[in-house]
Amino acid sequence: MTDRVLSGMRPTGALHLGHYHGALKNWVRLQSEMECFYFVADWHALTTHYQSREVIEKNVYEMVIDWLAAGLDPDKCTLFLQSRIPEHAELFTLLAMSTPISWLERVPTYKDQQEKLKEKDLTTYGFLGYPLLQAADILIYKAKHVPVGEDQASHVELTREAARRFNHLYGREPDFDALVQQCLSKLPKDIVKRFEKSRKQFQETGDTKALDGAMGYLQNATELTDKDRERLEGYFKGTGKAVLTEPHALLTEASKLPGLDGVKMSKSYNNTIDMREDKASIDAKVKRMQTDPARIKRTDAGNPDLCPVWQFHLVYSPESTRQWVKTECTRAGIGCLECKQPIIEAIIAEQQPMLERAAPFISNPRLVRDIVDAGTQRARSTAQDTMRDVREAMGLNY
Ligand code: ATP
Ligand code: MG
Repeated sequence: MTDRVLSGMRPTGALHLGHYHGALKNWVRLQSEMECFYFVADWHALTTHYQSREVIEKNVYEMVIDWLAAGLDPDKCTLFLQSRIPEHAELFTLLAMSTPISWLERVPTYKDQQEKLKEKDLTTYGFLGYPLLQAADILIYKAKHVPVGEDQASHVELTREAARRFNHLYGREPDFDALVQQCLSKLPKDIVKRFEKSRKQFQETGDTKALDGAMGYLQNATELTDKDRERLEGYFKGTGKAVLTEPHALLTEASKLPGLDGVKMSKSYNNTIDMREDKASIDAKVKRMQTDPARIKRTDAGNPDLCPVWQFHLVYSPESTRQWVKTECTRAGIGCLECKQPIIEAIIAEQQPMLERAAPFISNPRLVRDIVDAGTQRARSTAQDTMRDVREAMGLNY
């Protein structure tokens, strides 16, 4: 089985270049490499839009069209709707029992967003808990990789802690020792001897070489099932069986793309360029985009490091253009409008194939619904498999 990938986006408006370059580009790349699950996070959208749910309804399928326009292929990845898979809520509830409130209170986005979105009352239980719901979203697919923007990294970290705590509390099956002996008996004697030696070394000294070596031969031992491997890994590390998998965040190079005003591009800050925006509007928006604040007159030399437009050159321009910008900006050889022109052209060129890919779905919305229905069915069956393991580990099978 290849590694699993999971990520989601909130259907709260049209997707913008921050979503595309911060996460979606990675989603498209990964769909050909691993087993990918991508979901419409409509419950997460409710955490900030519980008073304006019509926004969500309007954007659920629109957002999936943005994904398809970006190049996601429903034959290569699974696209689904969070609220149709109640198992996410079940795992969230079970994880909540053992998650300290302080873990959630110290997530940086909690205070940040409350301060930035002052017009909304975010002092709700749902808003505090949403990173834990996100942990459930990830853990229920046993995903190893989570392609997201930088603002989400702390949520993936919380997910790792939640998985670790769960495995620690419930990973030890009552007949664990006997099961481990059964797994070991499937392996050649000399391998078992080496395994036991490395295990002792790892547990006494924390030697990661011993760990890497042992994990290497577990991976290659064809006589073991995936469950056997999990058990032996738990036995080796002394942690019991890993019921849930610890994921890690996968960032792009533009993991925090600025908007027109230089702060993070975000629809709530009204500083976005959308993924499907008309040409005149792209032109107008880039032209009014903020530049190095110290460069007031055309004759002042600029500093690309202080200019949000430079971040766009890093995403859009080849080395030769970047060199030209660096040289000419820093000696006032070009004005800001000249510097912006190649970016306007590059964004328009990037969006052309997206508009073409979106067209058939816009004219036939049924296609989009069918894609999401089929994906939701596939995802739900995987989520149900994990919940069986989770209930068994927690002893809820009475
Ligand atoms: P917005 O900030 O526009 O309101 P959102 O926060 O509602 O969007 P999410 O669904 O939380 O959108 O984000 C979807 C993904 O896009 C996440 O992985 C997030 O990290 C990423 N992302 C959003 N904005 C940016 C940005 N400006 N730069 C890089 N990545 C971003
Ligand atoms: Mg966000």
